[in-house]
Amino acid sequence: MSAAHPSPPAALPTRARLAVATGRTVAGASKLVHFGSGSVIGGRAALLVDPDLLRQLTRGREVVVVSATNGKTTTTRLIGAALGTDRPVVSNSLGANMTPGIVAALGAADPIATAVLEVDERWVPQVLEQTGAATVVLLNLSRDQLDRSQEVRKLAERWREALTATPPARVVANADDPLVVWAASAAPEVVWVATGQDWTADAAGCPNCTGRIAFEAGSWRCTACDLSRPDPHVEVGDTGVTLPSGPVALDLALPGRVNRVNAAFALAAATALGADAIAAAQAVGRVQEVAGRYRVATLAGRPVRLLLAKNPAGWHEAIDMLSPAPAPVVVAINARIADGHDPSWLWDVDYERLAGRLVVATGERRHDLAVRLRYAGVEHVTVAEVADAVARAAAAPGAEPGAIVDVAANYTAFQEYLDMVGGPR
Ligand SMILES: [Zn+2]
Repeated sequence: MSAAHPSPPAALPTRARLAVATGRTVAGASKLVHFGSGSVIGGRAALLVDPDLLRQLTRGREVVVVSATNGKTTTTRLIGAALGTDRPVVSNSLGANMTPGIVAALGAADPIATAVLEVDERWVPQVLEQTGAATVVLLNLSRDQLDRSQEVRKLAERWREALTATPPARVVANADDPLVVWAASAAPEVVWVATGQDWTADAAGCPNCTGRIAFEAGSWRCTACDLSRPDPHVEVGDTGVTLPSGPVALDLALPGRVNRVNAAFALAAATALGADAIAAAQAVGRVQEVAGRYRVATLAGRPVRLLLAKNPAGWHEAIDMLSPAPAPVVVAINARIADGHDPSWLWDVDYERLAGRLVVATGERRHDLAVRLRYAGVEHVTVAEVADAVARAAAAPGAEPGAIVDVAANYTAFQEYLDMVGGPR
């Protein structure tokens, strides 16, 4: 079954064509002098030529916007796989998720391809206004990069205003995150997804009235106003997902409960856009890694699996994905600009759950991590270089000989190791 596509796009205006050409030239030059992939700098150059370029590149195009604090890169990738079963898809799937990265991806794309766009939480209003996206997928809001991001309630408020100002045809949203529910309720049609999210530390205050939110028995409600958990249309089970159209089996290559939830969002969005549920579920099931995450690679001559965990909510899910104790784990923490300079968020992670195994702490802020692990009562050592850290973990008493070592890293540490094992960026 194939969805009705929007009318074919009109040819781009001259200024937009010039902007795209400029972006390509700059991106190409940037690649030659080793500025990384060159896509973001090319996008910036293109936007200088035509600030309205995103609007031009999405005119007449089917657009899906995906945003969240955690899981947006993976969910974008899964929606791309699901929709790719019956139509061409373009995506900024490597995480360049602000307007320059988005126009760089679209400038090179088939003009009729559906755009599945990962969008930074703070850029949702601008991107919605310019693309008029018909489908918006909102996963969660949690604290991230504390020292440079707005507080999460402010973000929820901006989402809510954006959904009121530029109402999409549908929003697919998390019924278990009060901040997301409050924001998404501004949209005319919402497909609510039950995520069983049990990370509630970021949503204790009601976004509507600042009253107290009570969480109990898999549900929640505000004790002071009428904000409460909506009845979900989509539920995640052990072997499949129940969609508005009925149940569909799901067998995922990606690990962890959280990826079953991400897959449920992807299937809800794709089937709402006309994709066949069974074909979409099979395509989603075949995705093995996302921008290097979950990749099994060789580091320091040993097999490792790379996991990204960059904030307390992300860590909460990542711990479920680790090989069970007593298997050791390497944990790498940096505190550069992209990570946030303040590593105090380590105190909000439930590292107590790592007890019963050796944790090898590495990265530039390994000593901050070691202090946290000491208070958590978790056995640990600190090792400066990641290669030595992997070797130390592989030699730990709990390690099976030759077993894959889990390496869980926050943002810049993860990028560093991904480079070491050969990209992609
Ligand atoms: Zn309230």
